Amino acid sequence: MALANLAHQVVAEQHRTLPQGHSMAKGLGSADETITELLDGLGIPRERVVSACLSIPAPVDAEGMISATALMPGWTGVSLATAAERALGLPVLVENDANLGALGEATWGAGRDIRNVVYLKLAAGIGAGLILNGEIFRGATGTAGEIGHTTVVENGAVCQCGNRGCLETVANAPHVIDLLTPTHGRLGIPRIVELARAGDPGCRRVLGDTGRVVGLAVANLCNLVNPQRLIVGGELSAAEDLLLRPMGESVRLNGIPAAVRSLEIVRAELGARAHVLGAVAYALAHVTPEALTATATGAATDREAVGEDGTDREAVGEDGTGPDAHDRSVAEPAPTHR
Ligand SMILES: [Zn+2]
Repeated sequence: MALANLAHQVVAEQHRTLPQGHSMAKGLGSADETITELLDGLGIPRERVVSACLSIPAPVDAEGMISATALMPGWTGVSLATAAERALGLPVLVENDANLGALGEATWGAGRDIRNVVYLKLAAGIGAGLILNGEIFRGATGTAGEIGHTTVVENGAVCQCGNRGCLETVANAPHVIDLLTPTHGRLGIPRIVELARAGDPGCRRVLGDTGRVVGLAVANLCNLVNPQRLIVGGELSAAEDLLLRPMGESVRLNGIPAAVRSLEIVRAELGARAHVLGAVAYALAHVTPEALTATATGAATDREAVGEDGTDREAVGEDGTGPDAHDRSVAEPAPTHR
């Protein structure tokens, strides 16, 4: 979670890990505790928070409901914004995590100067955030960019979404770990990347194969939306060229030359903070005049917005790979994109 002022400076940040598959009540309860700690640490009353954004690792529709219910079964059937507002006592926006990763990178990271950019999250979940003509593209029910659930093996393993052979079943971080477990023991992604860099053939092969199959799905995405730059984030992006180079070769092999020839594939610059900083950018972009009027007195830049990365699907590595900030104060540059 990050707390920022209206000058787009992150003034406090805290990372917590929740168990995979946790309930909505537990997630919002943890968010409430974290907000209290961050605000109390700075002596800021909660009433002065003018906007908040909750990042969700599943598609979210226009009503703030999760539209692919199988992906987060404990969080469905209610408007998340309404539930979060009730639990946190704040005005809350809800957005998909890959969309926020795209917004974070487009605002502060590797997509600053680009109007057509795709952010690809490669972690326990695989998703893409699309920024087309400078705006987040969600589609009719919020599922645009769900590249992790495109079919790459027609009769492959059953996916949590209910389909078979989704990209997520053959290329996510737990799959990489599982493939290497019989020969290498149960390693985390950071150790696998370390061994691959040192020349371990099994680790290099698995990361390369992962890049190639992701590249096939990315090629199809490029044919459809023709981005100028693909920004790769999530913990698997730590493999850098070991994964990105085979991915690029696969994209060029499988995509329409005109769609992929000039595509730039780069690693995300914000790392695990892309989603939470995207949530800050989104919250700041949606501060209403009414909220500003209703809050306490004080200089405008002293008022706050909160971005919360609600994902529980990032911490797969042996030592975790979430944001490394713990209550640290960080000054961010003003956004140059939007
Ligand atoms: Zn699926």
